[in-house]
Amino acid sequence: MTTRRTPKLDRYRATRPWGKDYWRRARCDEVACPRHIMGFEVVVPIGSDKDLYIRNAMNPMRTREGRSILHFTTKEEVGIVTFAFPPGQQCFNEHLLPIEREPIFLHKVGTQPRVMDFPDFMGEFNESAYRLQEARKRG
Ligand SMILES: [Zn+2]
Repeated sequence: MTTRRTPKLDRYRATRPWGKDYWRRARCDEVACPRHIMGFEVVVPIGSDKDLYIRNAMNPMRTREGRSILHFTTKEEVGIVTFAFPPGQQCFNEHLLPIEREPIFLHKVGTQPRVMDFPDFMGEFNESAYRLQEARKRG
């Protein structure tokens, strides 16, 4: 029995590393956030930090009198409160959008990545895809 070695695969990838060099915070409406479009509910323990955050004092989105500018209704049950936010408001999730900057183009063989400029990346990627296609035709 012969052992067949799997050839190392070339992998080409355009990537944007996490961080402010490649991403910026975005509003819900910029990313078509479903919570913004449909409205959303948040269920938290009564008196918890999250409860206080939403209602007023700890919330940076508040009036001068310390009241939340968020619009919501509340429903309290034993120990928990459900905040219902109608559509059209910012949710509490963080949304990110890529800033207008080229991603990093990586070519990876095995575990060693190599950073490339865009023309070289496209040239080598196309050549690699062509070679792969030809190899498949041969079977
Ligand atoms: Zn959102």
